[in-house]
Amino acid sequence: MAAQVPLVSYLVLDGAGPYLSAHVCTACGARSLERRNACPKCGSAAGFDKARLADTGVVTSFTIVQRAAPGVKAPFISATIALDGGGAVTANVVDTEPDPEHVTLGMPVTLTTFVVGTADDGAEAVAFGYAPI
Ligand SMILES: [Zn+2]
Repeated sequence: MAAQVPLVSYLVLDGAGPYLSAHVCTACGARSLERRNACPKCGSAAGFDKARLADTGVVTSFTIVQRAAPGVKAPFISATIALDGGGAVTANVVDTEPDPEHVTLGMPVTLTTFVVGTADDGAEAVAFGYAPI
Protein backbone atom coordinates (compact mmCIF):
# COMPACT_ATOMS: atom_id res chain seq x y z
CA MET A 1 0.00 0.00 0.00
CA ALA A 2 1.22 3.48 -0.88
CA ALA A 3 2.16 5.92 1.85
CA GLN A 4 -0.73 8.13 2.85
CA VAL A 5 -0.42 11.73 4.02
CA PRO A 6 -3.36 13.52 5.68
CA LEU A 7 -4.44 16.75 3.99
CA VAL A 8 -4.89 18.42 7.41
CA SER A 9 -2.89 17.96 10.61
CA TYR A 10 -5.92 16.85 12.66
CA LEU A 11 -6.78 13.88 10.45
CA VAL A 12 -5.07 10.83 11.95
CA LEU A 13 -4.34 7.93 9.61
CA ASP A 14 -2.25 5.69 11.89
CA GLY A 15 -3.23 2.15 12.80
CA ALA A 16 -6.21 3.31 14.92
CA GLY A 17 -7.39 5.77 12.28
CA PRO A 18 -8.85 7.34 10.44
CA TYR A 19 -10.18 9.78 13.00
CA LEU A 20 -10.03 13.49 13.86
CA SER A 21 -7.89 14.63 16.79
CA ALA A 22 -8.63 17.82 18.75
CA HIS A 23 -6.52 19.97 21.05
CA VAL A 24 -8.42 20.26 24.35
CA CYS A 25 -7.74 23.29 26.57
CA THR A 26 -6.58 22.07 29.99
CA ALA A 27 -8.19 25.14 31.63
CA CYS A 28 -11.70 25.11 30.16
CA GLY A 29 -12.05 22.02 27.96
CA ALA A 30 -12.66 23.92 24.71
CA ARG A 31 -11.71 21.92 21.63
CA SER A 32 -9.77 23.20 18.63
CA LEU A 33 -8.75 21.28 15.55
CA GLU A 34 -5.71 23.39 14.67
CA ARG A 35 -2.74 23.79 17.05
CA ARG A 36 -2.88 27.08 18.95
CA ASN A 37 -0.63 28.95 21.37
CA ALA A 38 -3.57 29.94 23.57
CA CYS A 39 -7.18 28.84 23.97
CA PRO A 40 -9.56 30.70 21.61
CA LYS A 41 -12.34 30.48 24.24
CA CYS A 42 -10.71 31.39 27.56
CA GLY A 43 -7.30 32.75 26.53
CA SER A 44 -5.37 30.32 28.73
CA ALA A 45 -1.90 29.29 27.60
CA ALA A 46 -1.75 26.50 30.21
CA GLY A 47 -1.66 23.86 27.51
CA PHE A 48 -3.68 21.37 25.57
CA ASP A 49 -4.39 17.67 25.75
CA LYS A 50 -5.27 15.60 22.70
CA ALA A 51 -8.63 13.92 22.28
CA ARG A 52 -10.03 11.66 19.62
CA LEU A 53 -13.27 13.08 18.25
CA ALA A 54 -16.25 10.88 17.48
CA ASP A 55 -16.55 9.56 13.95
CA THR A 56 -20.29 10.26 13.91
CA GLY A 57 -22.46 13.33 14.24
CA VAL A 58 -25.30 15.26 12.67
CA VAL A 59 -25.53 17.99 10.05
CA THR A 60 -26.35 21.32 11.75
CA SER A 61 -26.02 23.57 8.72
CA PHE A 62 -25.19 23.12 5.08
CA THR A 63 -25.05 24.77 1.71
CA ILE A 64 -24.93 23.30 -1.75
CA VAL A 65 -22.06 24.99 -3.52
CA GLN A 66 -22.82 25.43 -7.20
CA ARG A 67 -19.61 27.11 -8.40
CA ALA A 68 -16.02 26.34 -7.49
CA ALA A 69 -12.46 27.08 -8.50
CA PRO A 70 -11.13 25.43 -11.66
CA GLY A 71 -10.46 21.75 -11.00
CA VAL A 72 -12.94 21.49 -8.13
CA LYS A 73 -16.02 19.48 -9.02
CA ALA A 74 -19.30 21.26 -8.29
CA PRO A 75 -21.93 21.10 -7.04
CA PHE A 76 -20.91 19.79 -3.64
CA ILE A 77 -22.28 19.96 -0.08
CA SER A 78 -20.38 22.02 2.49
CA ALA A 79 -21.69 21.42 6.00
CA THR A 80 -21.10 21.93 9.68
CA ILE A 81 -21.20 18.66 11.60
CA ALA A 82 -21.92 18.57 15.36
CA LEU A 83 -19.96 15.53 16.49
CA ASP A 84 -21.37 13.06 18.97
CA GLY A 85 -19.72 13.69 22.34
CA GLY A 86 -18.83 17.31 21.51
CA GLY A 87 -16.96 19.31 18.95
CA ALA A 88 -17.92 20.58 15.54
CA VAL A 89 -16.22 20.50 12.18
CA THR A 90 -16.82 22.00 8.77
CA ALA A 91 -16.49 19.46 5.99
CA ASN A 92 -18.12 18.25 2.81
CA VAL A 93 -20.94 15.73 2.89
CA VAL A 94 -20.01 13.05 0.36
CA ASP A 95 -21.38 9.80 -1.00
CA THR A 96 -24.78 11.35 -1.70
CA GLU A 97 -26.30 13.52 -4.39
CA PRO A 98 -25.62 17.26 -3.82
CA ASP A 99 -29.24 18.37 -3.84
CA PRO A 100 -31.82 19.34 -1.19
CA GLU A 101 -33.53 15.94 -1.39
CA HIS A 102 -30.39 14.14 -0.16
CA VAL A 103 -29.12 16.35 2.70
CA THR A 104 -31.15 17.59 5.66
CA LEU A 105 -30.59 19.32 8.98
CA GLY A 106 -30.12 16.70 11.70
CA MET A 107 -29.05 14.05 9.21
CA PRO A 108 -26.71 11.51 10.88
CA VAL A 109 -23.33 11.15 9.19
CA THR A 110 -20.07 9.28 9.69
CA LEU A 111 -16.46 10.12 8.93
CA THR A 112 -15.02 8.87 5.66
CA THR A 113 -11.74 9.48 3.87
CA PHE A 114 -10.74 9.61 0.23
CA VAL A 115 -7.64 10.15 -1.88
CA VAL A 116 -7.43 13.63 -3.44
CA GLY A 117 -4.05 13.37 -5.14
CA THR A 118 -1.03 11.19 -5.73
CA ALA A 119 2.60 12.34 -5.66
CA ASP A 120 5.23 11.17 -8.14
CA ASP A 121 6.52 8.68 -5.53
CA GLY A 122 3.03 7.19 -5.14
CA ALA A 123 2.24 8.83 -1.80
CA GLU A 124 -1.44 9.61 -1.53
CA ALA A 125 -2.93 12.81 -0.10
CA VAL A 126 -5.99 11.89 1.95
CA ALA A 127 -8.90 14.19 2.81
CA PHE A 128 -11.99 13.57 4.91
CA GLY A 129 -15.69 14.16 4.65
CA TYR A 130 -18.90 12.81 6.13
CA ALA A 131 -21.23 10.29 4.54
CA PRO A 132 -24.88 9.71 5.41
CA ILE A 133 -25.43 6.77 7.77
ZN1 LIG B 1 -9.75 27.34 27.38
